[in-house]
Amino acid sequence: MSRAQRITVLGATGSIGLSTLDVIGRHPERYEVFALTGYSRLNELFALCIRHAPQYAVVPTALAARQLQDDLRAAGLGTRVLVGEGGLCEVSADPEVDTVLAAIVGAAGLRPTLAAVEAGKKVLLANKEALVMSGALFMQAVHRSATVLLPLDSEHNAIFQCLPRDCASGLDALGVRRILLTASGGPFRETPLSELAHVSPEQACAHPNWSMGRKISVDSASMMNKGLELIEACWLFDCAPARIEVVVHPQSVIHSMVDYVDGSVLAQLGNPDMRTPIAHALAWPERIESGVAPLDLFSIARLDFQAPDEVRFPCLRLARQAADAGGSAPAVLNAVNEVAVAAFLDRRIRFPEIASMIDEVLNAEPTIAVGELETVFEVDARARVLAEQWLQAK
Ligand code: NDP
Ligand code: MG
Repeated sequence: MSRAQRITVLGATGSIGLSTLDVIGRHPERYEVFALTGYSRLNELFALCIRHAPQYAVVPTALAARQLQDDLRAAGLGTRVLVGEGGLCEVSADPEVDTVLAAIVGAAGLRPTLAAVEAGKKVLLANKEALVMSGALFMQAVHRSATVLLPLDSEHNAIFQCLPRDCASGLDALGVRRILLTASGGPFRETPLSELAHVSPEQACAHPNWSMGRKISVDSASMMNKGLELIEACWLFDCAPARIEVVVHPQSVIHSMVDYVDGSVLAQLGNPDMRTPIAHALAWPERIESGVAPLDLFSIARLDFQAPDEVRFPCLRLARQAADAGGSAPAVLNAVNEVAVAAFLDRRIRFPEIASMIDEVLNAEPTIAVGELETVFEVDARARVLAEQWLQAK
């Protein structure tokens, strides 16, 4: 058998990072951890380094790096600690690395993920915000470097599994009519509309089916997550937004579907546990054990489907608007959403104001063409300033 695959886990201390390390730990003969990165949970990062003995760890500041380096040395480990975005890009592009798992949350993941793409690594993408911000440029970089880009997001991983192995020819040639993107509807699917102004961050983060980081949990509660996923799917599968239909499916057993012109609809099912798409993408085109329990259809008993309610979930409409507008609009949508979610988690705004803020900033900003990465970062920075001004003025 060939040597173990060397893996960099960007965002190792997060929900996806930990699930990935759980799967990797089940297959030591196949996978070796090359680098682990963290941001605020540095005790957790230290514990992960002890368990996986990576060659590198990356932290945000020089002070944190010195502390972690001393602790690792005292524990007898040779792991080298690098700092900041430069360190993240270094461990993504290192010639020794085979696969990069992109699981940093938000815009902060864009440069390190692109560094992995440009270095031709196999990239397993959880960080949907990177693709939303810079879709055209990101996909150009993927094609230029002939990178294998595999989706970890459960819906996109499901769609990937429901498409033929060679899908480079485009959806028309494959006979695909529509992509059916499933959504759980989150914790507020049935909450009376009058109560949404009073929901707490804790309620928003209590997802009925999935255990996830706080930002994506709030995105799921507002259905902005589905909006970002709609844009993500357009780029991953080279598809117009109109071809993607969002289907609310509260049980989260079907992770998405592909509807073909002959009337066949292919679905991927499984328990809602991210270790399934992670194991799929890690081993693709092979299959490996993930630790996920077999699906028990008898205990699930029924599967329900509903159309999404865009009055309850205006973020979905706003994301579709940004997807249709193209250019800089998705980057603006993403940046304002990041500021709005942080403000909601800090209890500075109420839940429905997430959508109000995005609506106002998105509609006030002219959409411009995005020809280079620096423009994406300028658009992102300006949208954050406008979002902060909205917060100050309210
Ligand atoms: P978490 O918040 O649990 O983890 C985020 C990770 O990113 C942590 O390792 C965190 O470090 C790190 N991080 C945060 N900010 C920065 C920064 N500025 N620079 C460098 N690293 C940073 O999020 P999730 O694991 O839930 O989600 C990660 C990504 O995967 C998101 O883009 C999300 O949309 C996507 N995703 C997640 C799913 C899930 O089930 N959780 C499903 C599908 C997609 P630290 O913890 O040390 O602060
Ligand atoms: Mg998803």
